[in-house]
Amino acid sequence: MELTPEIRAQLEQQKQQCVFCKIVSKEVASQIVFEDKFSLAILDIFPMVKGHSVFMLKEHYPIMPYIPTEEFKHLFGSLPQLSKAIQDAMVSPGSNIFIANGWVAGQQASHFLMHILPREKGDGLFNFYFKPSFSLGEKEINLLAHHFPSMVHNHFKRNPAEWHKSSGEIPRFLKEIYEQNIVLYEDEKVLVIIPKKGIAPGHIEVYSKTEEKDFTKLSVEDSTHIFFITSLVATAIFEGLGAQGTNIIVKHGKIDDNPAGNLSFHVIPRKEGDHLQGLWQPSQKRPSYDLKKIANSINDKSWKVNYKEKKEEVKYYKTPVIKISSKSSEEEFKEQSSEQRNKNSKLKIEENEDTEETEENEIASAIKKIRN
Ligand SMILES: [Zn+2]
Repeated sequence: MELTPEIRAQLEQQKQQCVFCKIVSKEVASQIVFEDKFSLAILDIFPMVKGHSVFMLKEHYPIMPYIPTEEFKHLFGSLPQLSKAIQDAMVSPGSNIFIANGWVAGQQASHFLMHILPREKGDGLFNFYFKPSFSLGEKEINLLAHHFPSMVHNHFKRNPAEWHKSSGEIPRFLKEIYEQNIVLYEDEKVLVIIPKKGIAPGHIEVYSKTEEKDFTKLSVEDSTHIFFITSLVATAIFEGLGAQGTNIIVKHGKIDDNPAGNLSFHVIPRKEGDHLQGLWQPSQKRPSYDLKKIANSINDKSWKVNYKEKKEEVKYYKTPVIKISSKSSEEEFKEQSSEQRNKNSKLKIEENEDTEETEENEIASAIKKIRN
């Protein structure tokens, strides 16, 4: 979104106090594990697991919606490669990515950043072990089903993608998830569902259609797109469900709290004093091992990280699909075959041309909330 002069002035003020801006300018020392023109990754000085890294843009943006498209692409496009470098160095079978939007969600600095946690069997980290037990009400489901696809449609209008023509196919590995949950949105690369039961009402899951298990195998474009969609989900539950903040958690790799090893993205609404305080518990003490050594071994791998946007072949030629319905997505999904959904979609998009303003307002109001 456009930053107004007023917001820019506020950001300038924040920057003066920001420890991460001082780390970027090297006024404050850190163990750097990766650096390029736009981004920097350092070791967390209070690691939750060995190799726990913090990845950020060099420029100061407090929350995801403020990040300009080019920098967003750069950060999230290079994330799979950086995660691979960290996992290779730590000999990890998987990792978690953790993002906190808003202080109620555990955001501790006004500089937007994400945590990369390389995982191993028996590492004792069970923060992201989910016991789903909350369902979302019908009214809220309908609200999301009504607004979310148009938010994505507007996203594509602003950022046209050659590959996007339709709702795409459902890969075999997502068939069960597709059939057993409420589908909120899908395209060639992602599937967004409202699970029957989540860890909080409004917990939304996003799946890659191109990669079943390994986040580090996502291409620059696939990773960028899935994070764009995930960020829009966060805005939607912020605005639509009145969340005060959100967490985005990526799980992949066969580890104790992810036994099937599948790749999944979770967006979780947060409220002050909710039951999810255990999600993020930063360690309070410095590690007994030498961080410098860990940084060296990651640097040995991370020099290969290279953000490059590759032109992808256009693989799909179907008509575009954006589902908008007053019925719940679940009812609609049950009633319509995939072909029917494709047929109906053109009309629905046309009905939906004038929603851009609304989404801008939604984002602006969401940002207002997070700042308060
Ligand atoms: Zn900063």
